Amino acid sequence: MNRPGSDNAPVHGYPLLLDLTGRRALVVGGGDVATRRAAGLVESGAVVSVVALHVSPALREIVHHVEVRAFRPDDVDGAWLVAACTDVPAVNAAVADAAEARQVFCIRADAAPGGTARTPAVARSGDVTVAVSGGDDPRRAVALRNAIAAALDVGELPTRPVRPAASGSVALVGGGPGDPELITVRGRRLVAAADVVVVDRLAPRALLGELPDDVEVVDCGKSAHRQNLTQDEINAVLIDRARAGKRVVRLKGGDPFVFGRGGEEWLACVAAGVPVTVVPGVSSALAAPVAAGIPLTHRGLAADFTVVSGHLDPGRPPDAGLDWATLAKASTLVLLMSIERLDLITAALIDHGRDGATPAAVIERATLDGERIVRAPLHDLADEVRRCGIAAPAVVVIGHVVDVLAAEGELS
Ligand code: SAH
Repeated sequence: MNRPGSDNAPVHGYPLLLDLTGRRALVVGGGDVATRRAAGLVESGAVVSVVALHVSPALREIVHHVEVRAFRPDDVDGAWLVAACTDVPAVNAAVADAAEARQVFCIRADAAPGGTARTPAVARSGDVTVAVSGGDDPRRAVALRNAIAAALDVGELPTRPVRPAASGSVALVGGGPGDPELITVRGRRLVAAADVVVVDRLAPRALLGELPDDVEVVDCGKSAHRQNLTQDEINAVLIDRARAGKRVVRLKGGDPFVFGRGGEEWLACVAAGVPVTVVPGVSSALAAPVAAGIPLTHRGLAADFTVVSGHLDPGRPPDAGLDWATLAKASTLVLLMSIERLDLITAALIDHGRDGATPAAVIERATLDGERIVRAPLHDLADEVRRCGIAAPAVVVIGHVVDVLAAEGELS
């Protein structure tokens, strides 16, 4: 059949994003390629029919209609888009011809120029879509797409929306322990798109340097666990800016819901009717031991770990809330906010039966410049920490896991 365009190289094509929601798409073929194509079509909301002599179980599960038989040209009737994905070129060519005759666009999996539409390699980041064509070289398109996707993931490309948000919102973002590379991809994307960033002392502050000048930065933390804004004031800032239509990111250290008062911020936003989401982060409780080469669990040695705050709510009696007898039995004990009370804590653990010779370590400024690690048996830990001048932020780990990798000579 003589098709306009089919013999005229190169084909530059006319890029489009198709809205296939609720519209019929036909996939001819039942193997791996057909399954990948069908999955993409289903994901974009199309109603997908498959015609093939053999249909894989995986494909059967995701599509709406399956006909196990040979393709007939009138299968194309009523479809908005056709994908010819069999491993028989003559069948794919027949599908393309039937589509052409009905003025329906057709993607040919085996020979792109034989069809009338091509699928680009796609990178997505939030609501940004980048579609790449590499001419007739799909691997070239994929390589370029991968590079773009990586740059999007790490926030290297300017994806910040230029238009004001339709309505304001708050995202409570866990920033990880401090190294800017240890935030999640989603967290990084939200920071890059924010109009306002409300930041804690222990959040990955290096990320602030990348923000455009017109992003408002509200700094809540001047010291390790004291805020220069009260929690009520922080909540008020989040709500006020969101009500003004801003995309607000509350950038927090570690995980927002681990000793981070993220729950209170969440509740305040909900009570104010402000849309709020939360993005998990790598808690310092998990990251600091890793930074020191300490596995929190280890086969045959520790099958549980307990994370406790050593910080006392003001006004509570010194022992309130902590069950020392239980804590003394934990295989691995991780303490946050505990440096100021380390004498009391280590003594209480030993009093309640923990062996004073148990290996212990303190990781100060984990994953940040100036990170320091101090190791000592439990009964010496507080003295050693004082001698070295260790200060918050620091994480304490107590248990036999502390030495397990060092003892094997795996770490220096
Ligand atoms: N939400 C945070 C914890 C906030 S409480 C998280 O999930 O990590 C603050 C305590 O976290 C500090 O006192 C310290 O014990 C610990 N901490 C946070 N960042 C740290 C870091 N980079 N190195 C060591 N300890 C850290």
